[in-house]
Amino acid sequence: MDSLKIPFNKPYLTGKETQYIELAVRSGKISGNGRFTQKCQKYLEDKYGFKKALLTTSCTDALEMCAILADIKHGDEVIVPSYTFVSTALAFVRQGAKIVFADSRPDHPGIDEEKLEELITPRTKAIVPVHYAGVACDMDKIMLLADKYNLLVIEDAAQAIDSFYKGRPLGSIGHLAAFSFHETKNINSGEGGLLAINDDRFIKRSEIIWEKGTNRAEFFRGEVNKYGWVDIGSSFLPSEIIAAYLWAQLENLDEIQKRRIEIWHQYFKGLKNWAIKNGVKLPVIPDYATNNGHMFYMVCKSADQRNQIISHLKKNGIYAVFHYLSLHKSNFYRSKYIGADLIQADNYSDCLLRLPFFFELKDEEIELIINITKDFHEKNN
Ligand SMILES: *Cc1c(COP(=O)(O)O)cnc(C)c1O
Repeated sequence: MDSLKIPFNKPYLTGKETQYIELAVRSGKISGNGRFTQKCQKYLEDKYGFKKALLTTSCTDALEMCAILADIKHGDEVIVPSYTFVSTALAFVRQGAKIVFADSRPDHPGIDEEKLEELITPRTKAIVPVHYAGVACDMDKIMLLADKYNLLVIEDAAQAIDSFYKGRPLGSIGHLAAFSFHETKNINSGEGGLLAINDDRFIKRSEIIWEKGTNRAEFFRGEVNKYGWVDIGSSFLPSEIIAAYLWAQLENLDEIQKRRIEIWHQYFKGLKNWAIKNGVKLPVIPDYATNNGHMFYMVCKSADQRNQIISHLKKNGIYAVFHYLSLHKSNFYRSKYIGADLIQADNYSDCLLRLPFFFELKDEEIELIINITKDFHEKNN
């Protein structure tokens, strides 16, 4: 018998994906902004109260659209957490922004709201909070600062579908927000993303940027009688094939979320006592936030302990992984970085570990992962 192997991620198929793709293909309209694209967008607008939703080919693309919409120019400053995925910073760097890296909270990898104000200068244009693991940043504090200094707030909600802050959907609070439907996210289309627009000022221009700088979307609605080049932009919209796949996923959103949250709780319950005994911290969900079952992470007491747990699990066929390397210490940025030490971000880089997490993970498999984790004995060297 093959020895057991539990991967870190396994993209879930609801079973309708290929059926809808076939429909899209047979409809004869397979480029972007067709029936499936509009179904997905309307569903997300209605469910989460976005003023406008536009499907994109990735969250990275949606963030690039945000950088264009925010009119980021050379030398403008954008505040981004260091403990995040590359795209959160990259999208703004491409527009010439100077990235000001913020540290994470001591109790959560999200941006430390208390330390944001000191990073604001007359050149600051935007703050980009990341809802790490789908757990909300304290948005009231961030929006208050944005009002005070006249800044834009762009939510990196890549991991935050169907999660809430004081009852408000994430992605509906900032002026703009970006979601990901990459295969590692709760709802996936292989590659895919969404731009959510919550500020009227950006609605018209967002469609133009989305459609290669043309007013094609307006033309197809019959609002103008010819279309042409009116602004900058790119080809940010996905084909109907991707939207059809995504629709099959969105139809099952509630079921997907329910199971993922169950998985999370099974891990949490099973590991709580073990974690305390071993100096490992399990996730903290603040009162104002919900848990959307995006991932299960733990913060080990040292890099050494983290790496030992990963190898222990791997020896037993279980693929646990670490996560981001602080962006201010990346090969690309290290030599350009002039800010303070970011102690928390470095701590999460060194000590955070993520356990296998996907819809089809069975109760028995989770139990096994818990038991094998508990069987870990630290070697002091
Ligand atoms: C996944 C992710 C992204 C990038 O998403 P893509 O759809 O792959 O471009 C950006 N930011 C965060 C926080 C992510 O988790």
